[in-house]
Amino acid sequence: MIQKQKRFETAVIHEGYDSKEMLGSLSTPIFQTSTYSFETAELGERRFAGEESGYIYSRLGNPTVRVLEERVASLEKGEAGLAFASGMAAVSAVLIALTKANDHIICSSGLYGCTFGLLTMMREKYNIMTDFSEMKSKEELRSLIRPETTVIYVETPINPTMRLIDLKQVAEVAKEYGIPVVVDNTFSSPYLQQPLELGCDIVLHSATKYIGGHGDVIAGLVVGKKSFIDMVSQTTQKDIGGVISPFDAWLLLRGLKTLPVRLDRHCDNAQKIVEQLKMHRKIANVYYPEDEENRDFSIMKKQMKRGGGIISFEVKGDKSQAQLLLNQLGFIKIAVSLGDAETLIEHPATMTHASIPYEVRQQMGITDQLIRLSVGLEAWEDIWADLEQALEQL
Ligand code: PLP
Repeated sequence: MIQKQKRFETAVIHEGYDSKEMLGSLSTPIFQTSTYSFETAELGERRFAGEESGYIYSRLGNPTVRVLEERVASLEKGEAGLAFASGMAAVSAVLIALTKANDHIICSSGLYGCTFGLLTMMREKYNIMTDFSEMKSKEELRSLIRPETTVIYVETPINPTMRLIDLKQVAEVAKEYGIPVVVDNTFSSPYLQQPLELGCDIVLHSATKYIGGHGDVIAGLVVGKKSFIDMVSQTTQKDIGGVISPFDAWLLLRGLKTLPVRLDRHCDNAQKIVEQLKMHRKIANVYYPEDEENRDFSIMKKQMKRGGGIISFEVKGDKSQAQLLLNQLGFIKIAVSLGDAETLIEHPATMTHASIPYEVRQQMGITDQLIRLSVGLEAWEDIWADLEQALEQL
C-alpha cells in the first residue's frame, strides 16, 4: 500500500517503527544492550569498515535509539536525526563539529546559560570568538559576518526573555555566505515551529523539556542533512560519547506520542495566565509570543503555530520581590526545567542564567525582577489562583 506522508499527530505515534519487525510489540522494545555479537570475525570486520550495515556497539547505534532518531527527523522535516544524553551534549557536539580554532560564531543576543558557558569556554580554549546580535535586519547580520564565521546560532523564543528572531530572514542571509544556521528549538518543539522548513540547516533540542514532557529524563536531539548527521555521529558523538541510554530513548518515544495534545493544553493555559498577569497591578511587564501587544508578535505570526507554554514577566520592585513571589507559591514548584506537566517557576538571574556576567545579563534583558514560568497542564484557574495569592503578598 502506498503510504501518504503522515500528519504530525500521526507521525508522533507511528513514524520510524514497524511492530511487524518486533514480534508485534506495540510498544517499541528497549534494546538494553551495550554491544552486539558478530557471527564471524569477517562480519565484524565488514561492519567496522562500513561495508555492511548493522549494529556494533551502543555508543555507535542502538535499535531503540534509532526509532527515536527517525521519528524526530520526520517531525522536524529533516533527513536524519541523532539522540544525545542531554541537550548540552547535543549543543556541544554540533558546535564543536562545526568549528575549529580561531573561527567565529554569530549568536542570538540571549540564550540558555550553559550554551553561553560553552561559547565562553570555546573562546578561552580555542580563540573561537562569538558576536551576539539581535538579528533585527539583514544588514545587521551581514555587518557581523567575517571570513572565519562558520556558524550562526539562534535560540527563538530566547530563554528566558521570550524575544523572537525571524528565522527565514536569518536563513536567507546565511545562504548568501554558505554559513549553516543552527536553531535551538527547545521552547517550541517541532509542533509549534519547524526551522528547517524556514531554510535553517540544523535544529536541536533539549528533549528534557516538551519532547519528554514528564520531567523524568535528560536528553538531547539534533536533526539536519544526512551528511551532517553522519559526520557528527562519526566524530563528536562517537569520540566525545554523549549518547542517550535505550531506556531514556524509550521515555522520549512515549512522551512524543502526546506532544501535540500536551502542547495544545500548555498553550491554552498560557494564554489564560497571560491575560490575568497583564491585568495585575503588581506586574510590570509580561512577555509572551502570542500576545498581540508583544514586541515580536509579527515574527511569531510568521513562524510559530502558537505561542507555547512559557511566559516571562517582571514584577514591580526588585530581586527581593521576585524571590518573595516564588517563596509564597503553593503547588507551583520552584524548579529550573520547563515543558513538564507540573507548572514550574524560576528566577533566571540567580538560577539558569546566573553564570552570565551581570552587565551581559542586563544587555540581554535578564533583569533581577524577571521571572520565568513554565505553565503546566493543571487547570488554569488553579495555576492563576496560586499565582494571584502569591502576588497579593508582595
Ligand atoms: N537549550 C535550552 C533552550 C534549554 O533551556 C536547555 C536547558 O534548560 C538546554 C538547551 C540544555 O538542555 P539539557 O538541560 O537537556 O542539557
